[in-house]
This record gives sequence, structure tokens and C-alpha cells, in this order.
Amino acid sequence: MRGMDTAREALDTLLPGLAPTLSDVPLQVLESPGGPGLDAFRKSGGPGLLVPGAYGGAGAGALRATRVSRALGALSPSLGVATAMHNFSVASLVALVASADASGLEWMLIEGIARDRLLVASAFAEGRPGAGILDSAVKARPAEGGWLVSGSKKPCSLSQSMDLITASVALTGADGTTELGVALVPTASPGITRRPFWGAPFLAGAESDEVVLTDVHVPTELMLRPQVELGTGLDTLQTIGFVWFELLVTSVYTGAVARLAESALDAGKGSATDRAAVLTQVEAAIALAENTARVVDAGPVGNDELAMVLTARYAVQELLVSAADRAAELLGGLAFATSCDIGHLLAVSRALAFHPPSRGSSAQALLDHHAGAPLRLA
Ligand SMILES: Cc1cc2nc3c(=O)[nH]c(=O)nc-3n(C[C@H](O)[C@H](O)[C@H](O)COP(=O)(O)OP(=O)(O)OC[C@H]3O[C@@H](n4cnc5c(N)ncnc54)[C@H](O)[C@@H]3O)c2cc1C
Repeated sequence: MRGMDTAREALDTLLPGLAPTLSDVPLQVLESPGGPGLDAFRKSGGPGLLVPGAYGGAGAGALRATRVSRALGALSPSLGVATAMHNFSVASLVALVASADASGLEWMLIEGIARDRLLVASAFAEGRPGAGILDSAVKARPAEGGWLVSGSKKPCSLSQSMDLITASVALTGADGTTELGVALVPTASPGITRRPFWGAPFLAGAESDEVVLTDVHVPTELMLRPQVELGTGLDTLQTIGFVWFELLVTSVYTGAVARLAESALDAGKGSATDRAAVLTQVEAAIALAENTARVVDAGPVGNDELAMVLTARYAVQELLVSAADRAAELLGGLAFATSCDIGHLLAVSRALAFHPPSRGSSAQALLDHHAGAPLRLA
């Protein structure tokens, strides 16, 4: 599949050695906790993928990051999801370095991430049904030189392998008012513990367990305070972060389904019409993400690009379910019965729907944007 050839080329160029290390490892090993994926990602320089060359990274833009994410999703969906969380945090930090809001510390952080091959978790979800990811129940209260942060984040991918956490928190001022903050927390800080959370056998290699913070001290300079714009509910940096997140996560699941689709094409079963249907659905999903990535690379990124990437993501969400169904049917019952891989990839093909924002929560916002209003995410 041509869209997967470009993905594998990008992976081999930007993270040399990663694919050869993992390509012979059985999928079920890569998808289990403690598999070799994250270690191989570190060794190939993966943590610095999005860090600009001036700070020691590979300096990938959105198009190349989209391709690498797709290749990673095909190699190991768990590795793809875990590294999408890392790349989302790094992309946000890189955007911050380039912005007027930078404190001067951020460039040292991204340089350290590339140099020391550090993994960064993105802790926004809290396991509360219906809660938006910017609506945090994790509290930060003022303390000497910064803040004390307490609460729980789940699921939090990279919970075992992470070196740093970016976490949304509710900053509570001395006068009782609250505002959104994003804490950057080294995982060596006292007060951080993990608890089992992820019970499903699918995507278990992403280490998406619970991370508990108990009076974790975060210095003032490591507590970012987004300035939310009236009308959109997001600030510019959050918008850029969201756009990157949607692009990366959409590409990871596209890669996972492309793995199933390539198997079906190689098996050569069914009619040419059936096989071409699988092919065109996956190539269309790839093209939707790549089109948005090119717009992101051309810049600037704002509210309209957020609407564009969400539109692409929800369209891809449907294409992937349909393509995975068709591919599994073409591969047939014997293939389904004699290995876990097909059932596993079928389950994974559904999971793009479980990443924020859910389709239901942003439906009205997309309709309002279509009618001329800014896209406002709750
Ligand atoms: C593999 C994996 C790894 C993940 N890792 C991380 C991570 O590292 N960090 C992180 O922060 N998150 C992570 N997440 C995301 C996190 O799991 C989600 O935020 C969480 O799944 C939301 O689940 P929920 O059941 O609370 O969904 P809900 O938001 O409650 O949605 C459930 C249903 O309600 C509907 N709904 C919700 N709100 C509305 C609304 N306002 N209007 C209409 N309908 C609505 C939705 O459409 C959906 O159908 C991960 C997810 C997966 C699948």
C-alpha cells in the first residue's frame, strides 16, 4: 500500500533501526505491558522526533510526524498510542518555545528530552465519564515557590516508562477562584505513585494505568497558565496542541488498520472490487490526515484548522471501522480462528472513538462552526 510505503520510509529515515528491531517480534508480545517497543523507541532517538534540530532533535514537521505515527501504529498499536501521547506533549512544548509566553525554561526541557531520550506522559483524562479533558478535578494549591498538586489521572499512557508528566490541573488561588493550569512534573518528584487501571487486553502495551499525585511540589516556572480566549474555550497553544493530538492519534489507528488491510490485500482473497474497497478506504483515511498535516506545516494554526482536523478525524474513525471489517472478512474465519492478531486489530480499529473529544461532545461545536461561529470545545 503506497501510503504505508511512505510511512515506513519516514520511520526508517527519522528513527533508524526501530522497525528492524521490532518487525519480527510477535504482535501479542509488542501489545503486552513490558514489551520491547518503548525501549526500542528510546534507543532510536524517538523522544526527539518533534524537537527542532537546533535543540538536538529530528525536527519532524506535521507531515513527517503523521507518517511516522502511521508506521508505528502498524508495527505496534500500543507503541503508537503511547508515543502519540509523548509527541503531543512535545509538540505543545515546541509551540510554547516559539511563542511569546515562553519563560526560557521550555527550550531547556525540549533539549533535555532529545538529548537524554526522555519520555513525556500526557495526563489529562481522569476517569470521570462525561468530563471534558480541560475540566480537571486534580487540584493545585499555592505553596512556597510554587504549587502542591494532588489528585488522580487515568488512563495515563506511559505510566511506567515516563520521565516527565504534563498534567492538566485546577489552580486554586488564595481567594478560592480556580483557573486551568498545565503542570510539568518530573516523575522522580516525591508524591507520585501508580495503580493498575487498564484491564483490557488491547493496547495494554501503552501502559495506560492510573497515576496518583499526592502533594507533589511543582515550581512556579513549571506551572503553565493558558490564557483562554473568549469564544473558543481554548488558547492558541492549546489549539495547536489539540490539532497535533488529533493528527497523531488518527494516524496511529490508521496504521493499525492498514496492517490488517495489507494482510488482506496480500492474501488475495475475494473479488478485486472487495480488495479495492479496503485499499481505497485506508488510502482515503491516510489522505485526510496528510492533507491536514500539510496545512499545519504551512501554518499558522488556529481555530479553523482545529475544525479541519476534527472533521478529518471523525471521517477517518468511520473509514477505519469499515475497512477493518472488510479486511477481516476477506481474510476469513480460519485466519481469525488460528491467531489472536485479527481479533486484536479489529478491537483496536474501534478505539480511535475513545480519544477526546468524543464525537458526541463536539457535534454541536462543529455544526456551529459550519454556520460561521468559532469552534468552541466544552
Ligand atoms: C488506548 C488509550 C490510551 C489513552 N491514554 C490517555 C492518556 O495517556 N492521557 C489522557 O489524558 N487520556 C488518555 N486516553 C483518553 C481517555 O481514555 C478518554 O478521555 C476517556 O476514554 C474518556 O472516556 P469516557 O468513558 O469518560 O468518555 P465520555 O467522555 O464520558 O464519553 C462517553 C460517551 O458519552 C458521549 N458524550 C460525552 N460528552 C458528551 C456531550 N457533551 N454531549 C454529547 N455526548 C457526549 C460521548 O460521545 C461518548 O459516546 C486514552 C484512551 C485510550 C483509548
